[in-house]
Amino acid sequence: MYSIEQRDEQLLGGTAAISYHIGFERAAQHIVSVRMRIDNVLGESLVVVMPSWSPGSYKIRDYAGYQGNVSTWLMDGARRKPALAAWRDKASLVIETKGATSIEIEYLIYAHERTVRTNHVNRNHAFLVPTALCMYVEGRTQEVHHVLFAHNRAQWPSISTALSPVKAPSSEGVLLGALNYDVLADSPIEIGDHQVRTFDEAGATHEVAVATNHTLDLDWLVTQIQRIVHVEAELFGGVPYDRYVFIIQVYPGAGGGLEHARSSVNAVEPSSMLDKSKVVALLSLLCHEYFHTWNVKRIRPVELGPFDYTRESYTSMLWLAEGLTSYYDDLLTYRCGFTTAKEYIDSLSKDHIAKLAMVPGRFAMSTRDSSYLAWLKLYMASPDGSNRFPSYYLKGGVIFLLLDIYIIDHSDGKYSLDDAMRAMWKRYQQNPSVGMTEVECISIIEQSTSIQIRDRLLDWLNGTTELPYNEIFDAVGLRVETTAKVADPVKIGENIVFATVPRVPFIGWSLAESGGRISVRAVEDGSPAARAGVGIDDEIVAVDGKRVNTSAQVDHYCGTMIGKGAILTAHCDGRLYTTTISPVEQPNLRLVQIEKPSSRQKQMHDRWLHRTL
Ligand SMILES: [Zn+2]
Repeated sequence: MYSIEQRDEQLLGGTAAISYHIGFERAAQHIVSVRMRIDNVLGESLVVVMPSWSPGSYKIRDYAGYQGNVSTWLMDGARRKPALAAWRDKASLVIETKGATSIEIEYLIYAHERTVRTNHVNRNHAFLVPTALCMYVEGRTQEVHHVLFAHNRAQWPSISTALSPVKAPSSEGVLLGALNYDVLADSPIEIGDHQVRTFDEAGATHEVAVATNHTLDLDWLVTQIQRIVHVEAELFGGVPYDRYVFIIQVYPGAGGGLEHARSSVNAVEPSSMLDKSKVVALLSLLCHEYFHTWNVKRIRPVELGPFDYTRESYTSMLWLAEGLTSYYDDLLTYRCGFTTAKEYIDSLSKDHIAKLAMVPGRFAMSTRDSSYLAWLKLYMASPDGSNRFPSYYLKGGVIFLLLDIYIIDHSDGKYSLDDAMRAMWKRYQQNPSVGMTEVECISIIEQSTSIQIRDRLLDWLNGTTELPYNEIFDAVGLRVETTAKVADPVKIGENIVFATVPRVPFIGWSLAESGGRISVRAVEDGSPAARAGVGIDDEIVAVDGKRVNTSAQVDHYCGTMIGKGAILTAHCDGRLYTTTISPVEQPNLRLVQIEKPSSRQKQMHDRWLHRTL
């Protein structure tokens, strides 16, 4: 039976017939050595497999590509002799066991890619992702697995992971364990001299592990994380674990996170605590990954657990997994008190509704299909991607915003999406080994809130037309409106307007600057740029005969040409061309409060944005 639940006490003092010895002698060269031992071997052969992907990150990464120097051994007491083995496919090795009851497989892993779902090892630390490190034995994934980490503990005193201690650390290393391979695969490990803080909340232990050589106010951050745990635990009526680890990686270029059942990995820039909007983004990321403790790791589409680690797990329900979580991450950021109600609505306006309005792909593909094809779309987006599909995070999140308000409105404030969440949580607890189908999920939403939403919700999920914003938002006194975007006037002294307010042009391209050259990175379907025949990777040379070296210059010159045509000189594949481009006013789509809301609108608005902290 599939289960990712584990309590530390379950592993203490136990044994395992499948174990790994992880060595770091060559950490400086980003190499980890693995010696995997398999006991209780039966029959003439067995198959060991390296996963091809990590659940939660929907891309085939072929982790076997990082593996090398594979050798296989038949064990006979303390002696061993080579075992014959042959690759069955790119990631599966068939080993002839010849009646031996124990075998070993040794290999090296090159670990030099710094993301939340790849191994990163150097002389300073090790971040290990078990799906990219530990092979599994076909047919034996349900057994207990042990991992011995043989690092230099004087150099690397801390180890942070959801894997459970088996016994006290010894001269051999730190022995940790998982009840089955799924738990092991789901438990990344940070080893090094990182800082660790712990706190108790909702009857469980929480560890915050911050791996960085940058300065960060860790105590302040831990206080905020405790607030996040408090608010989310309150929503679900407690936490489903005994111990949880927040791994926070801080390095230049970092971004994103990955959820696990008893931990999460959150990667942020060193500047992430330097200004207000960045701190809020960091806290929102933590809210998001932590919310996955319930939604995705436990409440989940039927296809997302148990997993086939060798191939894609297709699901059209990432609108539930990520769309719902995207809606809640900002809502919970607000409920934690990290944003005001106005800031929350401004963020819905700018980062969700206006952002979606700039994605022509919402007319080209449904949210359900965008989910199903995530492996080739969101995770392998081409520069043209925004024209071809909407992100199920972005559009899925907006759909849940509409759904929440719809539920509140149609139940006269009696129910909200929180009630549907709690009902889905109850369903998980009743049958944790099997995920939900779409039919079941929608039924739970309907039953828990006493509203009929199936047809509408399926319309929104399957549709490629604009969502009915104003019909839904009216209930809480909000409205989506479009005006022309006007830049803020620049003043000098008290009252002297420095220059006439520039108009903000819309051209429908994104530009990149490099070495004084401006190149086109993306072109929006149907936009002035597309109509002018500009293509991706073209170089913009001049606007109306004026040489341009920065995208600000392009914007400035185009801003003066709104409503008129501008002669654009550009370069494509070694040939110069000229074309006429017709910039238009940048539309400013905003979610705004209506003037003079009725008492019911106010009441429904307060119900929606109710918070207890
Ligand atoms: Zn997520």
